[in-house]
Amino acid sequence: MVEAMDDKRPTPGPLMAGKRGLILGVANDKSIAWGVAKQLAGHGAELAFTYQNDAFAKRVVPLAESVGSDLTFPCDVSEEDGIAGMVEQLGNRWDRVDFVLHAVAYSDKNELKGRYLDTSRDNFQHSLSISCYSFTELARHCRPLMTQGGSLVTLTYLGANRVTPNYNVMGVAKAALEASVRYLAVDLGGDSIRVNAISAGPMKTLAGSAIADARHTYRYTANNAPLRRNVSLDEVGNTALYLASDLSAGVTGEVMYVDAGFNVTAIPHPNREQAPE
Ligand code: NAD
Repeated sequence: MVEAMDDKRPTPGPLMAGKRGLILGVANDKSIAWGVAKQLAGHGAELAFTYQNDAFAKRVVPLAESVGSDLTFPCDVSEEDGIAGMVEQLGNRWDRVDFVLHAVAYSDKNELKGRYLDTSRDNFQHSLSISCYSFTELARHCRPLMTQGGSLVTLTYLGANRVTPNYNVMGVAKAALEASVRYLAVDLGGDSIRVNAISAGPMKTLAGSAIADARHTYRYTANNAPLRRNVSLDEVGNTALYLASDLSAGVTGEVMYVDAGFNVTAIPHPNREQAPE
């Protein structure tokens, strides 16, 4: 029989205690960025948020307050000074940032249906600029504030490396974003800044619903993923928590799939039962 002994080890504090992070991409309480923010705040992180414009501020400010944050800044990443101006304002309030979450993407809805072949030059440039270049620009401007190293995390999708219905130019933007993750990981590794992406399965968000036949993709993924379902905001949030925290101290340049395993499948089994609606 094992005798009960007094455990003298100190109880560990919250995982993110003392860590400060910036969250880009909350539009509402269905946003992936919000799912991430809730997990990070729940584990003791101090957060600052951005919102795209005044229309989004109405939702983002109360959400930020609900996790104890009064730091909310406007930031339209398509504007010349959008990111630089926002990081400057943040630097007036915080002398250090430990992690940054980039959950921002945009393409003209009219080109998230039909053929990729028909993508216009304007929408190609606009989509790549907002959905991909903004991450590189953000990394460059945040670096001086990441004085103790830290973690940059962005969001991507399987459409970056395999063709999914109607994802079109967004797939090309995500492929470029994933390549950026690898280049940035090398450029910033010497500063102990890690750079990773989460490839999330399909989720019912504002951006997700802009893609034509999103419901088909959602249902097909649930029916054919090894876990026989789609993923939740909390599950994506927990992976972001791992990547933002010191638990992933040895991980950089990675694309981590949080998609109930769907990416490993090729041909669905003919006898596969359907996942519940
Ligand atoms: P969402 O609509 O909640 O978030 C998208 C965010 O992008 C919004 O907050 C919006 O304000 C912001 N944004 C767009 N243009 C901007 C601009 N010019 N300046 C600043 N912000 C701008 O949708 P979401 O699904 O949570 O998307 C977050 C990220 O997750 C995106 O990168 C998306 O591609 C990615 N993602 C989504 C899914 C999905 O199925 N929903 C799956 C994998 C990856």
